[in-house]
Amino acid sequence: IKSQLPEGVVLVAVSKTKPTSAILEAYRAGQRVFGENKVQEMVQKWEELPKDIQWHMIGHLQRNKVKYIAPFVSLIHGVDSLKLLKEIDRQAKAIGRTIPCLLQLHIAQEETKFGLDPGELGALLESPEFRAMEHVQIMGLMGMATHTGDKTRIRKEFEYLKGQFDTLKKTRPKISILSMGMSSDYPLAVEAGSTMVRIGSDIFGNREPIHQ
Ligand SMILES: *Cc1c(COP(=O)(O)O)cnc(C)c1O
Repeated sequence: IKSQLPEGVVLVAVSKTKPTSAILEAYRAGQRVFGENKVQEMVQKWEELPKDIQWHMIGHLQRNKVKYIAPFVSLIHGVDSLKLLKEIDRQAKAIGRTIPCLLQLHIAQEETKFGLDPGELGALLESPEFRAMEHVQIMGLMGMATHTGDKTRIRKEFEYLKGQFDTLKKTRPKISILSMGMSSDYPLAVEAGSTMVRIGSDIFGNREPIHQ
């Protein structure tokens, strides 16, 4: 998969539900960035595996669990509220680090997908609370397209997210990461300007449905 990605597009190997042996195999092949969506699972794997692995939290993160990953997480993808960001800032401050985060925008048709709408995104970034935060760094945006076979729709959603990303970049020079694309749709995401893809099943094989 890495060889199919243009230079500059980061591959996050989504290892959720997979055993450490599978992660080690990818690690030995040179992969260093892994994505998990459950706090407990990520902490356990971080403890057991080589310390130069960069762990990305890609799932919906509960506020009361931020403290467990704050010491080591490299990037939190799915931040979709000021409250969550506040807690990340608080925990990062407590241990003296700054945690890189992505804000998740809602781009899909499904109601179930988490994320901010552009109005909420603007309000968050303009809020005095956000401006006062010194221990989170917003690096960019993340989004998930509708789960559909309709490529035109998926492409539109990714292009929409890219547009939001470009707008944001104009006024915020630190914005550099656009996390979009998974196994089923990453070629479309890359075409639309993704800088980071999150790929699980195409690397590790299918997960048991119950874990998805
Ligand atoms: C599981 C997951 C992925 C990877 O999905 P695959 O279809 O296995 O590539 C990507 N992003 C998020 C947020 C996920 O939860």
